[in-house]
Amino acid sequence: MTTPKPTCVHCGQPYGRRATTDEVVRWDTPTKEVEQFYTDRLTGQTIITGKMVVLDGEPNPPPRYTGNGIVVKNGHAYLSGDNHRMVMYRTIWDGESWVGGYEPFCTLRCALDYARKAYARATAARPRVVSK
Ligand SMILES: [Zn+2]
Repeated sequence: MTTPKPTCVHCGQPYGRRATTDEVVRWDTPTKEVEQFYTDRLTGQTIITGKMVVLDGEPNPPPRYTGNGIVVKNGHAYLSGDNHRMVMYRTIWDGESWVGGYEPFCTLRCALDYARKAYARATAARPRVVSK
């Protein structure tokens, strides 16, 4: 179940966007160490400059989301250079929260228009003070 967008109390238009949070997902995947090297043009020698860890085939898929929210988006997954695990941002919505707008109005313009009309009504309804 999700909560629908709030609607503006003045114009009745729905407004706002889902209030989401990003969580970092990390998981293990097969990797391998490869040597980095280059060939010296003068001597023809191959010189090893270091080692790096790369994916060994296709990476494992991210773990399933197990929370109570709704997955809005799975970000781009990549192999972390720090710990050689996969890492990805996952955007979650709680299914209820909305942000944006000028609650309970869709826009500041609507809020001001509402205030202006309310003021006009109040002014018109006020009994006139008759001077003696
Ligand atoms: Zn409005």
